[in-house]
Amino acid sequence: MKKLRVTLALLLVLAMLTSLCSCFDSGSGGLKLGGGGGDDGGAVKKKKNENVVVEGDIEIHFLELGNKYTGDCTYIKAGENDILIDAGSKVSSIDTINSYVSQYVTDGILEYVIVTHAHEDHYAGFATKTSIDSLFDLYECKTIIDFAQITKGKSDQTMYKNYIRERDAEIEKGATHYTAAECVEMGGEFDLGDGITMTILDSFYYYNVSSEGENDHSVCTLIDDGKNSYLFTGDLEKEGEEKLVEMNDLPEVKLFKAGHHGSKTSSNDVLLSVIKPEIVCVCCCCGSPQYTSTIENQFPTQQFINRVSKYTDAVYVTTICVDYKEDKFESMNGNIIIRSQDGEITVICSASTDKLKDTKWFKEYRTVPDEWKE
Ligand SMILES: [Zn+2]
Repeated sequence: MKKLRVTLALLLVLAMLTSLCSCFDSGSGGLKLGGGGGDDGGAVKKKKNENVVVEGDIEIHFLELGNKYTGDCTYIKAGENDILIDAGSKVSSIDTINSYVSQYVTDGILEYVIVTHAHEDHYAGFATKTSIDSLFDLYECKTIIDFAQITKGKSDQTMYKNYIRERDAEIEKGATHYTAAECVEMGGEFDLGDGITMTILDSFYYYNVSSEGENDHSVCTLIDDGKNSYLFTGDLEKEGEEKLVEMNDLPEVKLFKAGHHGSKTSSNDVLLSVIKPEIVCVCCCCGSPQYTSTIENQFPTQQFINRVSKYTDAVYVTTICVDYKEDKFESMNGNIIIRSQDGEITVICSASTDKLKDTKWFKEYRTVPDEWKE
């Protein structure tokens, strides 16, 4: 009888401990900063397919945008959090982005939306006129983080006004909003749970002073899963990169989203020599004359390739321009997924898995840098 009582008491203690543990579990994914939340009361529904990553792992998706224009849209699944950084390149990209992202975000909730800067190729999907659903209309966005500065005259532009209207409507519906400068003031770090952190990097100057161009106002984000780091700098250019290096203790990174689509003005030595990227993804319509007819300056530029080649040959590009005038484009690597499981990295592409240096386009239009010579 005494033995039975002891066993019952032990079972009771065990049951209490179990319920206590589950309380702690439900708190995972909480934020260090207020608002938003990686957990909407346990209502996060996971689609039962192999695409969904398990807790603690990260998948970073660089999306094709469904047209011949260069632009950025990065979807990240980090533990329980769905994160979207930017939504370019045109308003017409919204359907392409939505049909891709909705495969993963089955509960319709984006825990974080980061809008790096006020250029169409980054925020068109958030800045629609009222008759068109923006991504703010299509998803419930818990926390919105955006640029702290704009250039002079920008506030009079229709697309910017559309952005503010759409963003403010989402805030009205309950979203928490921080500018990058406010994030930095509050410490900059968001705890995504499962040992994953997301840091909005400091750029005091460009978050507080209006500069000549929007690019250096870009919100810069570092994600770290305890084993690897991943860096996103929007369209930050040389001066912005110098400030970034000066003001932050940047680690070496597994992945770097090429600054400004592989432009000659970005991904400079000052930044690359610190972060030493192992994988570089370029979001652009490769070889397109959209911004310049000078072939060596078309994205990804020869100068960018020369600089990056000192650190890695694992360079991937989303889309390639076939005939700009005829609106013809194709996937290069297509949608690019960088998957991290237990610290192991896999690169998955919806089209070819060839590195940039092995593509037909590269062989025709670019000079092989010394570091990439056999
Ligand atoms: Zn851009």
